[in-house]
Amino acid sequence: MQEDAALLDAFRLDGRVAVITGGARGIGYETARLFTAAGARTVLVDLDEAAARESAARLGPQASSLRLDVSAEADVTRVFDEIASTQGRIDVLVNNAGMALRRPSTELSLADWQRVVDVNMTGVFLCARAAARHMLTRGSGTIVNTASIMGLSGGGLYPNISYQATKGAVVNMTRALAVEWAPGGLRVNAVAPTWVDTEFIGPLKNSPELMREIQRVTPLGRLAQPMEVAQAILFLACPASSMVTGHVLAVDGGFLAQ
Ligand code: NAD
Repeated sequence: MQEDAALLDAFRLDGRVAVITGGARGIGYETARLFTAAGARTVLVDLDEAAARESAARLGPQASSLRLDVSAEADVTRVFDEIASTQGRIDVLVNNAGMALRRPSTELSLADWQRVVDVNMTGVFLCARAAARHMLTRGSGTIVNTASIMGLSGGGLYPNISYQATKGAVVNMTRALAVEWAPGGLRVNAVAPTWVDTEFIGPLKNSPELMREIQRVTPLGRLAQPMEVAQAILFLACPASSMVTGHVLAVDGGFLAQ
């Protein structure tokens, strides 16, 4: 019986060091919470330094925090080097920081387009590159990117072109990095959540009509909870998914199955 119970250890992250971008709140925070419960040492990195510090304090001594804008190249390199040196290793990266500027395409300025590209697409690349430089020297590591159903569909309920384009880029970056780094022992996967009940969709929740539409286009008929996304991220990050790489796991209540 002891041996069968040990099978579940593959779903744990005991002793692993996990970096979670956008870890101060929402999906990132719930992921940090779950990872900490699964035995990991978690590092919450976020643009919002104070919130990240408070969130890490809530999780206890296994968690810590650092300020980082994922779109700032030099800072990304410095922060990942610092984590590798203070923690001794980086086993898991959850590339989760993201933003949206939901506007009609004809009214979206180049500066606004560029900011979303910098954070959602370039930020994912920069953090993956920085983490992989450490992981490849040890021949192991897992990266989980947060894409979106909007990276795999045209959306339709409201215009959001920079988000749609950058999350589509995250989907294919996941596949390409998985193939490139597989010989080095790394796995790269993504989750593609539906609308998740976090501050991220605060402006959408102000419209009861839109919320009804979201329920209507979601077969399970409700928003996802951030912990439901975190659970999928844990699966992709831990040894239980050891033969899974280059995969985009929809956490979408059936949205993409239609
Ligand atoms: P959230 O707004 O609750 O949290 C996002 C966190 O990212 C914040 O703490 C914010 O400070 C941080 N952040 C933003 N820009 C950053 C930057 N440049 N550098 C570092 N940190 C930065 O959002 P959430 O709902 O938890 O979203 C997390 C991820 O999930 C995002 O990539 C988002 O696109 C994706 N996603 C969200 C939903 C949803 O409906 N909430 C759906 C699909 C995908």
